[in-house]
Amino acid sequence: MNPFFKIDERIENASDRAIKLCKEQFEIIDDITEYNQNKVQKAFIDNKISEMNFATSTGYGYGDSGRETLDKVWAQVFGAEDALVRHNFTCGTHTLAVALFGVLRPGDNMLCVTGTPYDTIHNVIGIKGSEMGSLKDFGVNYNEIPLKNERPDYDAIENAVNEKTTMVYIQRSRGYELRPSLRIEEIEKIINIAKNKNPDVIVMVDNCYGEFVQKKEPCEVGADLIAGSLIKNAGGGIARTGGYIAGRHDLVEKCAFRLTTPGLGKEVGATLGMNRELYMGLFYAPHTVGEALKSAVYISALYENFGYDVTPKYNEERADIVQSLGLENEESLVAFCQGIQSGSAVDSFLLPEPWDMPGYDSKVVMAAGAFTLGSSIELSADAPIREPFYAWIQGGLNFHSAKTCSLLAAQKMFEKGLLKGIDYGI
Ligand SMILES: *Cc1c(COP(=O)(O)O)cnc(C)c1O
Repeated sequence: MNPFFKIDERIENASDRAIKLCKEQFEIIDDITEYNQNKVQKAFIDNKISEMNFATSTGYGYGDSGRETLDKVWAQVFGAEDALVRHNFTCGTHTLAVALFGVLRPGDNMLCVTGTPYDTIHNVIGIKGSEMGSLKDFGVNYNEIPLKNERPDYDAIENAVNEKTTMVYIQRSRGYELRPSLRIEEIEKIINIAKNKNPDVIVMVDNCYGEFVQKKEPCEVGADLIAGSLIKNAGGGIARTGGYIAGRHDLVEKCAFRLTTPGLGKEVGATLGMNRELYMGLFYAPHTVGEALKSAVYISALYENFGYDVTPKYNEERADIVQSLGLENEESLVAFCQGIQSGSAVDSFLLPEPWDMPGYDSKVVMAAGAFTLGSSIELSADAPIREPFYAWIQGGLNFHSAKTCSLLAAQKMFEKGLLKGIDYGI
């Protein structure tokens, strides 16, 4: 019995069964975590990180050696020539936009080969029309290749890439879709096909939610440019804001010219005391991602045992930290999110309710008790209130607290008579 939280014995028993199922996956995750932790550790040692690198700068931020060395460490970890890691990136979308605007020019052709990209990128590209300030508005052409049976359509990619293709764009994570995420081996295959058709093509990968989930990162298999958010995987739950771009030196420089100005590039940018937590976040990231993965695997096993549709399943190979659960109706989604929130270290007393979130066509309920607002490397759950009534769950700073949150979610559903797979003895 848990001395701190009231959880029905039948749910505790289901939890014990789930833990047994997870054993093999946990070993696989531990192996990946240790590999990536050593990779990060080696980069810190090779770059002689010391207290000096945590010093702050103000004003222009000229000669901030902590900032400059962080870029070097980052580049080494991600198998890239260069990197641009900054707290000034406001979110993942902003970082991806800087990268796209940084390297694409009027008349260029961008080709997304993993179906329609993540929602917030639509306005950046100008998918729906020519949204003000979008790439389309600036004369960059866009095309996409849909997935085939939820996998990249390699034949269609081979046919579509030609000497006119400037950029092939790949999204590693599934985002808020019910398809599997893209494994690094699949990314490598796309890159080989694309480069074979056009050796000059720039391959860019939206790396959000994918960092440290496998042993390799996209630049290690030939990607030219990657970008991601620091309040997801790569910030390790420590970074409070920011983003990163990494890849070929000439491309990263172009991105730096876009973030600041041509000429100034990476030379400016006061770090305002952020260096220490960005280093520390990177150091924690492989472990934190491992905890988030264990949380996802466990939640998948537990809720599949109760009788719900889950994707991915506990024993499926993963390429991002996202887990989804088909909870079948509005009442269950709300109870689930309320249960998750009730176990959060921060804002446990808030009761999530469905609301009309801007930019969504249905109400959304979300649980997001976090040290960093909106952080999704911390345990968070969100669910649009519409068919097929799926909740999307990601993160977990540590497995133990995420486990308890998911048990509290089951308990909340149980108390409302909603939890499947439990004999209510009526
Ligand atoms: C989160 C995410 C983004 C955008 O990041 P924000 O920080 O929410 O702006 C882009 N692509 C994918 C795949 C993501 O998961």
